Amino acid sequence: MRRWIPTVIATTMALAATPAAVASTGQAASGPARTGQARAAAASSTATASSTGAVSSTGAASSTAAGKVNCAKVKCIALTFDDGPGRYTSTLLDLLKRHHTKVTFFLVGAQIGKYPSVVRRMAREGHEIGDHTYDHPHLTTLPDGDIRDELTRPRDAIKKLTGRAPDLMRPPYGDTDERVGGIAAELGMAQILWNGTSRDWELRDTAAITKKVLGLAKRDRVVLMHDVWPETVKAMPKILTSLEKKGYHVVPVTALLRGRSLAAGEVYPVGGWN
Ligand SMILES: [Zn+2]
Repeated sequence: MRRWIPTVIATTMALAATPAAVASTGQAASGPARTGQARAAAASSTATASSTGAVSSTGAASSTAAGKVNCAKVKCIALTFDDGPGRYTSTLLDLLKRHHTKVTFFLVGAQIGKYPSVVRRMAREGHEIGDHTYDHPHLTTLPDGDIRDELTRPRDAIKKLTGRAPDLMRPPYGDTDERVGGIAAELGMAQILWNGTSRDWELRDTAAITKKVLGLAKRDRVVLMHDVWPETVKAMPKILTSLEKKGYHVVPVTALLRGRSLAAGEVYPVGGWN
């Protein structure tokens, strides 16, 4: 983890700074082009999904965490936590439990083996668990076999620990395309992006993260956060209390779908990254 985190931060910052920054990775020329790519992936994967029948997303999630809040009737916001589990994740789970709140975690395979009991606890306490690759690479730069391997290793580890294979994945850096979408579809996973980011990896300040997340609060928003940073976890008590006061229900991401299932490979929310 220590070894890869700095790279992750540097690249995530570059990507998050401006959509045009994506061009520096040689992946896409601009934001709109990128969105088009994601849409193309969604469209092509829907086709794949219908031919394979791999539309399994939200089945178990909606019967547990996501099903308890009706986002058609109440104001919902999804907080999503990437790159863990880490040393602060248990503290976050304690807090979420006190608030009777469920969220979505996108786990990195390299971390899963270090905190197996935390992964089991996430599942037991009704949180949604997604696949965030084994080693956090830019998936679009890899050959098909490596993409498959990056997604399969954490998927199998999660299944072994929780009894259920994840049907959601989040491509690191939001870096996806038609090919990645096709492989996600093949593995029965929908692709979850975000439309609000805490920028916690660069803020690294509890008050600033709190302010940023509360400023992003909007009905049905999908917020990107990272439970591997202590400042993020420290910001959570105030974030939860303030969101609750404003009438928000913090939910796992699939609860925002109001019962609709995502097709394997489908991108949600469309036009992510903000
Ligand atoms: Zn990540």
